[in-house]
Amino acid sequence: KSQEIIDFQQTLIDTIPSPIFYKDTDGIYRGCNKAYEEFLGLKKEYIVGKSVYDIFPKDQADKYYEKDLELFLIPGKQIYEWKMDHADGSIHSFIFNKATYLNADGTPAGLVGVMVDITDRKTLEEELKDSEAYYRTIFENTGTASFIIEEDFIISLVNAECEELSGYSKEKIEGKKKWLEFVSPEFIAKMENYHDLRRINPELAPRNYEFIFIDRFGNKKIVTSTIAMIPGTKKSLVSLLDITEIKEAENELISSNERFQKVMDSLDALVYVADMENYEILFVNKYTRELWGDIEGKKCWETIQTGQTGPCPFCTNKWLLDEKSDPTGVYVWEFQNTITKRWYECRDSAIRWIDGQLARMEVATDITERKELENRSIERSRRLNILNKIIIAANRSNTPQSLFEDVLDLTLELMDFDGGGIYLVDEDIKVASITYHKGLPIDFVKTVDNVPIDEYPFSKVFIHGKSMFMDRYDKLRPEYSKWNLKSGASIPLYSKDKIVGTFNIASKKIHEFTIEEKRLINSIGREIGNTYFKLVYEEELKNLIEDLKRSNEELEQFAFITSHDLQEPLRTIVSFTQLLEMRYKGKFDSDADEFMEYMVDASIRMKEMIQGLLNYSRIGREGIEFKPVNLENVLDETISSLELLIKENDALITYDKLPSVNGDSKLLVQLFQNLISNAIKFKGKENPEIRIFATKSEKEDKYVISVEDNGIGIDPQYADRIFKVFKRLHTLDEYEGAGIGLSISRRIVEIHDGKIWIESELDVGSKFYFTLDPVK
Ligand code: ADP
Repeated sequence: KSQEIIDFQQTLIDTIPSPIFYKDTDGIYRGCNKAYEEFLGLKKEYIVGKSVYDIFPKDQADKYYEKDLELFLIPGKQIYEWKMDHADGSIHSFIFNKATYLNADGTPAGLVGVMVDITDRKTLEEELKDSEAYYRTIFENTGTASFIIEEDFIISLVNAECEELSGYSKEKIEGKKKWLEFVSPEFIAKMENYHDLRRINPELAPRNYEFIFIDRFGNKKIVTSTIAMIPGTKKSLVSLLDITEIKEAENELISSNERFQKVMDSLDALVYVADMENYEILFVNKYTRELWGDIEGKKCWETIQTGQTGPCPFCTNKWLLDEKSDPTGVYVWEFQNTITKRWYECRDSAIRWIDGQLARMEVATDITERKELENRSIERSRRLNILNKIIIAANRSNTPQSLFEDVLDLTLELMDFDGGGIYLVDEDIKVASITYHKGLPIDFVKTVDNVPIDEYPFSKVFIHGKSMFMDRYDKLRPEYSKWNLKSGASIPLYSKDKIVGTFNIASKKIHEFTIEEKRLINSIGREIGNTYFKLVYEEELKNLIEDLKRSNEELEQFAFITSHDLQEPLRTIVSFTQLLEMRYKGKFDSDADEFMEYMVDASIRMKEMIQGLLNYSRIGREGIEFKPVNLENVLDETISSLELLIKENDALITYDKLPSVNGDSKLLVQLFQNLISNAIKFKGKENPEIRIFATKSEKEDKYVISVEDNGIGIDPQYADRIFKVFKRLHTLDEYEGAGIGLSISRRIVEIHDGKIWIESELDVGSKFYFTLDPVK
């Protein structure tokens, strides 16, 4: 029965597919089942009665022994995982479920072990482990900062980049930090919302957005985030890419683009950039946009160069690149828009545009005004040139006739007119006659020559002195069509303020006189008038001077001859009246004596006057010798010749240092004699004090010599009178003299090319001034 039970039990355990063994407390196998036999590849008969050391290699046996010992020390259950080699060589994983069985006294009798083969499960588990490693590797190497966020915002997993981005180590973040702690405040509300929405439905929140990440040190980083829910969980996977630098570069680009646009917009010039290959406009500035609208994307020849049907034949692209297709520099050209008629100075250059393609940049400045100014100044200088030539010609001519000829010929030639004529008007008979003409039909000239000025075709010019410019003779004077004259001008000729004639030019073509041309022609007319006046005036002046000289000479001759010839009879009269007085004084009545006295006085006086006149007219007749003369010497000589007079009158003569002058010493001695003797003669109550000094004139290169006295002076109103022949301010009773001294003085000074004048005050004194040339 007991055997029966044992067999049943054996059969029972043999049917169990898991290996089963039991051992006693000594570690000796007491039994096992079939599965254990098969696994070890050993028979039960071999196993039973053996220990683990008999069956397994030592190192494994030690482990089993140790495990068994543990169980016996604390009886009960023991479960652990273990790998064992199958008899066929394959390794199997087992869960060992071991338990002790007891003796009747409760002490352990042995153990039973059931091995559950978990090899398949283990492989699965391993595979799972492998795949986790696989995903972790990916997670670690995404190249972005990646982390996993739990529903409560806690970050549960981070990679190395995330450590780097945040500045925290894994340990400091994982399970500790909340996601929003790294987010700049302005983004928090939005991202909280996304977080919640995503957990309701991932579709509700955007996968990508940018926000500002704040790291451990408070640095702000612009990041772009990609967020996805991990399927079947409430976790989300976040990866962040730091795009701060890209953003900055982008901003830099934007602001540099903006700067470029701003600079270009501020230019007062048309600026555009066009692709050199397809002519597409890539950029325009404000100026261009205001003119042409938004033409970016259109072709330059369709828009800016209106009226072209294809690329412009004058396109500058070919000038902007060298044979290696490298930019050559700036090409400058001028261009007139055919429609707007405005002129531009264009500065073209090849540049690399944003995508690297070659583009032509043109900066065109409107130079219409400058052009006009330039043309005007060319035109003006042309006119000035003409006028200049005419003025030179006019000034070269020395008779009115040659003046008319030269100026008219030159005007017709330079101004391209066909004919013309110069009229002079005869004031007395009011007739205008042609003085000179050229290029006019002779029959025409006949009809307009010697006509009363009222009948003169352009009588208005004579009468009102206003120029007439006629673009269309044929309209104004249809009769002129006979002479084939279509246009012309008639200009009054002014000699000083008087209209003396007209200056006329005519053309066979219709000619529109511009303002500038009118000015020029008027100027020519004025020049003719002025030169004519000068020539006529000079002629008259020359004649006048000659007449004057002649009459002067005659007068001097007359004075000389008369004074000279009168001396002889006068001497006779003087001698005989004196004789008469001597012999017959007292022989008649007292009246007769008185009369005789008058006669004698008068005749003496007449003699003195004639002598004076003779002296006067002699001055300058005898050889005058101009040479350097020292005035101090002259004065010394004068003083010694007047020694007696000076002594008698107790006169004091002083003088400063005097210069040398260019003059005739004899005449200069005579000049000083006259002035000094007058100063003594017209002395006042005090003794005469005479001062002589010289200064240099500031205005002219002359010395001003002054002779100053303290005498009776003269009333300034007579300042001119006293220099005239025989003019005196006193009677003979008061002061002797013929009234010729100052006339002679003036003559002498004038011979020296100088001037003499007086400044005086009655009862104070006189200052005589005269000028002399310094030594050259
Ligand atoms: P005369 O001395 O013979 O009268 P002048 O021709 O020398 O003739 O002088 C003309 C007049 O000028 C003098 O009569 C006198 O009235 C005035 N006169 C000339 N010199 C002086 C002087 N130094 N002081 C005042 N009066 C003078």
